[in-house]
Amino acid sequence: MDSEDKEIELAPKGMFPADDDEDIYEIDIDENLDVWNRGTGYTWGGGQSWWQTTSMGSSVSSMWSMGGTGYVANDDAARMLKNKRHIDSLCKVVDPTVAHTLEFAAEHTSGHTDMNRGHIVVDGSLIRLNDNKLDILAGLAIHEKLHVIHSYPLMKWQRSIRAEVCKSEGERDLFQSISNIVEDEYIERQLHKTCAGYVHYIEACKEHYFAKSKIDVNDETSKFGDLINTFLMLVRYPSKIDMDRRKRHAPHIRLFMSMIKDGIDNREAVYKCILLVHKYLLAQASKMDDQKDISEIMEELKDKAMDYGERRVTDSFGEENDDLTSEMRKSMIESIAKGRFDKLKERYESSSDRGVDKLWKDHKGIDTVLHEDMGDISKSIHKKMKELEN
Ligand SMILES: [Zn+2]
Repeated sequence: MDSEDKEIELAPKGMFPADDDEDIYEIDIDENLDVWNRGTGYTWGGGQSWWQTTSMGSSVSSMWSMGGTGYVANDDAARMLKNKRHIDSLCKVVDPTVAHTLEFAAEHTSGHTDMNRGHIVVDGSLIRLNDNKLDILAGLAIHEKLHVIHSYPLMKWQRSIRAEVCKSEGERDLFQSISNIVEDEYIERQLHKTCAGYVHYIEACKEHYFAKSKIDVNDETSKFGDLINTFLMLVRYPSKIDMDRRKRHAPHIRLFMSMIKDGIDNREAVYKCILLVHKYLLAQASKMDDQKDISEIMEELKDKAMDYGERRVTDSFGEENDDLTSEMRKSMIESIAKGRFDKLKERYESSSDRGVDKLWKDHKGIDTVLHEDMGDISKSIHKKMKELEN
């Protein structure tokens, strides 16, 4: 815990580079930000991929694609069902001992994987028109299966500790986002250990959702949201961190790197890493939102509570009352004010007007990228696939 505190304490230094000793936090232009040296595509065990060099070619597309023969345009449902079955068997191989069901998200379905039931939902609309994105879809499904296999302990741990480490909705959302980011990397690392042949599906998936996507700053990205984006990229796809971002967040990047370095070595490390990053980001949030000192705010709340107490007593007994000595009046006001203060303080602490909750109003859509913006297949395709299935 000592080292944690130290890191947290160092952080603010970097926020005011002018005050720093030297630019000891600078990140070099060509410094490798991939703390785990994952190679191209930032997938575990990716890189010099055998399937690219052998004539075997194991991509789902080349193995199963209908290549335009045998299917006419309106037979998309049959083509998609066939692909779905193949992907389903891939997921089985990932771990045959863990049961799952697979579904393509449709207009009327819930659209999310349910880990408790082992029910995997993926974005089948990726192959709505052709099979070009079949590997990506397979990668998505495998990623979800990995959640089913590995992530239940994380959910349990989150439930057990959430109330203790999160005081407001924003803090809870932040906790969830950090968990998702770290967990996604952790589970993908497990695939590399147990089922290395499938790693390239994850690589295709990451390339689609990270390399080709833009997780860029726009006018609506808050300063704090931007920092979370940097963390996301650092964990999931460091090459997305461009020069501007390196400069802008150099001190944070250095600290994030030290926090995640051993952060996915095992289950316990994942928990520690999540807590550490959460603590760090909360500290950054309260610094960015530093218009007032906390003791100053408490003084204000106290005044407010006293005003309230006086008003209540005056409303009930008038400005002066023969039956009420000044002593009694005073103690009455104080007792009302105290109760009021406790309520005001509680409301302040869980308020959406401070810290993370205030700075991160745009907190939707950063998360893990892989799980967001899921497309639907139409009701009619979904129905047709079901019919064919039966
Ligand atoms: Zn995930």
